[in-house]
Amino acid sequence: MTDMPKTDTPKNQYQMRDPRSLYPKPPFDTPMQPEPGLTSEMTPQPDHGETSYKGLGRMQGRRALITGGDSGIGRAVAIAFAREGAHVVINYLPAEQSDADSLLQDLRAEGLKIDAIPGDLMDEAFCSGLVDDAAGLMGGIDVLVNNAGKQVTQASIRDLTTEQFDATYKTNVYAMFWLSKAALPRMKPGASIINVTSIQGYDPSPNLLDYASTKFAILGFTKALAGQVAKDGIRVNAVAPGPFWTPLQPSQGQPAEKLAKFGEQTPLGRPGQPAEIAPSFVFLATQESGYMTGETIGVTGGNPIH
Ligand code: NAD
Ligand code: MG
Repeated sequence: MTDMPKTDTPKNQYQMRDPRSLYPKPPFDTPMQPEPGLTSEMTPQPDHGETSYKGLGRMQGRRALITGGDSGIGRAVAIAFAREGAHVVINYLPAEQSDADSLLQDLRAEGLKIDAIPGDLMDEAFCSGLVDDAAGLMGGIDVLVNNAGKQVTQASIRDLTTEQFDATYKTNVYAMFWLSKAALPRMKPGASIINVTSIQGYDPSPNLLDYASTKFAILGFTKALAGQVAKDGIRVNAVAPGPFWTPLQPSQGQPAEKLAKFGEQTPLGRPGQPAEIAPSFVFLATQESGYMTGETIGVTGGNPIH
């Protein structure tokens, strides 16, 4: 694996670059891992914007809770929000403490505000307690990013157990419901909820029956809740990623043969890096998107969401 290309990084998110040649392309041979995956085991390492994301004060004073903030897309969003001046609390599973520790260490060394609350979102009482504790640490909550997700490939419905189906729905759908329900009474007009759906919520892969159907549910939930809380001045939107280079995929998210070609089927010919999706979350979190609600931003490398 030493001959894998190094992750290329732009100087900042504004530098003009060719999206085809920026960042590694398939084939990949990153090791398979148990669930939940760890960043440290991935080859090449994902780019979360560590050296490139430049903050401009766009989230000064905002308080944001990000689930799954230890790794992948959530980690890139945490870096972007903190560099834009927000106070961030991340949630993740205790097994991912090493990813969370490295993020906190890096961001605190920059003098940025970030805290961590580990725990399992499949538990309703934990979800409402998480919102209370995060709001306690930050003095309130203005942005909720429902990003945590579970994805385990199963070729056939015959092998899809009730236990897996239940865990996928609890993590991807119920936790979003429980966290939103707990956060809304604490949110003031101008606050923003951002859910993470997927291209799987439009164009489902047969091997992701449970996962893809949760992503359809997230779209419906986003639109219905947006309609409900618009009268309170609170916006609810979603981001729909295509293939992104994160620990979700090598930790049972894809079969080995699909992982080797991950991202190849996009017009840009490669997976996205978490750094390339974080700016969409910043946009949805701030007043820049103030007239958008119930909407979805697709960040897919060119495969249409429809
Ligand atoms: P990731 O593995 O880095 O992040 C997922 C996170 O979910 C984990 O870090 C973990 O902390 C959290 N999580 C899972 N189960 C949990 C539980 N029971 N309790 C608490 N936390 C739990 O992978 P990612 O790709 O960055 O995933 C982030 C989101 O992006 C997910 O919703 C995923 O479905 C979505 N997404 C990813 C891709 C992709 O190709 N990577 C594509 C479309 C959508
Ligand atoms: Mg993780």
